[in-house]
Amino acid sequence: MADNKFDYYLDGKTGKWEVIIGLEVHAQVTSRAKLFSGSSTKFGSDPNTQVSLVDAAMPGMLPVINKFCIEQAVKTGLGLKAKINRFSKFDRKNYFYADLPQGYQISQFKFPIVGEGEIVLDMPYGTKVVGIERLHLEQDAGKSLHDQDPENSFVDLNRSGIALMEIVGKPDLRSPEEVGQYVKKLRSIMRYLNTCDGNMDEGSLRADVNVSVRKQGSQQLGTRCEIKNVNSIKFMQQAIEYEAKRQIDIIEDGGTINQETRLYDTKKNETRSMRSKEDAHDYRYFPDPDLLPLVLDSEFIENIKKTLPELPDEKKHRLMNDFGLSSYDASIIISEKDISDYYEDVAKNSDYKLAANWMIVELFGILNKEGKEIKDSPVSAVNLSKLINLIKNGTISGKIAKTVFEQMVQRNENPEVIIEKSGLKQQSDPKELEIIIDNIIKNNQDKVIEYKSGKIKLFSFFVGQAMKDTAGKGNPQLINNILSKKLK
Ligand code: MN
Repeated sequence: MADNKFDYYLDGKTGKWEVIIGLEVHAQVTSRAKLFSGSSTKFGSDPNTQVSLVDAAMPGMLPVINKFCIEQAVKTGLGLKAKINRFSKFDRKNYFYADLPQGYQISQFKFPIVGEGEIVLDMPYGTKVVGIERLHLEQDAGKSLHDQDPENSFVDLNRSGIALMEIVGKPDLRSPEEVGQYVKKLRSIMRYLNTCDGNMDEGSLRADVNVSVRKQGSQQLGTRCEIKNVNSIKFMQQAIEYEAKRQIDIIEDGGTINQETRLYDTKKNETRSMRSKEDAHDYRYFPDPDLLPLVLDSEFIENIKKTLPELPDEKKHRLMNDFGLSSYDASIIISEKDISDYYEDVAKNSDYKLAANWMIVELFGILNKEGKEIKDSPVSAVNLSKLINLIKNGTISGKIAKTVFEQMVQRNENPEVIIEKSGLKQQSDPKELEIIIDNIIKNNQDKVIEYKSGKIKLFSFFVGQAMKDTAGKGNPQLINNILSKKLK
């Protein structure tokens, strides 16, 4: 864990440097059909089995907009607290590439569907608000396959025409850690909204990372380089670190940074120049004559607003204000939709605070050790809530609960059954405990005298004896009460 002060500055020969980062995230819209055709978007199908004539850019084919994708983009915009633009337009972004049969990508240039918004990050040094510049809709391209044949490259158009949201962030990020939190938070918001599944290893979420550096304290932005298409948080962080150091070395040696597009080589952990940076005019953007401007009425937007679920930030505040969770615990619970769903299932039948403690300490301990995600949890939410209730109503102590939990991990059994079978039930009969305690007092008169003459530390000795004589099953609260009375 970092200390509670932002301190990501890189050391150069001439002093400390600040790193400025802005992300352009491409997020695949969760939708069964593509943006302008009815073809399926299913992942992992055989090449070119999900390609309509529109996706293959056959002459004379016309795009028809998928209303659901528009709803998803608006929903995402609302989740980012962003301005929804009631008027937007589709443009053609022209470039030549083997996997782009149209020769252009339909995108939104001047008039995106979503304007400025924000994402709040929980950093060890406090919350940080990162600005969103815009969100626009565009088509994905196909995919070139170079590893199928020694002499030929092939093209798979299954991805061609799939709807993407390009989410352009402001250059507000200052460290690899902030970038990690930003991507996680954005992914989490979209998963809560069900607008992008965020599966980075399937290419559903990838980012172009813009990096520049400046001397600590400087207000001017340096020239930036864009690292294309990075598809894991770890790689983004490594690429940023490499790229920032590269730029610092160049500037300190008297050189200048050329604005360019670079790629990150994951095997060598370095960035390499791909091409000098193209500007918007290089793409010869112009309005797509096949598509009318997109005009949304306020009712359409209002109706989407009504379907918004509780989002991570709101949920965090509710857990803190209504249920007394700490900010730390609450931010872990809300960090992933799967974790939050599991938590709700446990807490709705038990105790909110104990549920958080048991998940964060015991359950995550096991999951981390076994390298599992919460959806593969060996303990079901129902069984964990039962365990918590057994602690709460005094059937078992917190200590015994840990033993029971270990057995639950082995075979996800109902804790009530485990306790019954192994006789782990807490001894909570005051009369039985009194007999045991009376015996301890009788057999340790010397200690009783010492205690009464002021050696109050001995109290824990008596508690220890009682726990020993009950084989660890004595109700600690009751033992304390009875001992206090008897030793007065
Ligand atoms: Mn794009």
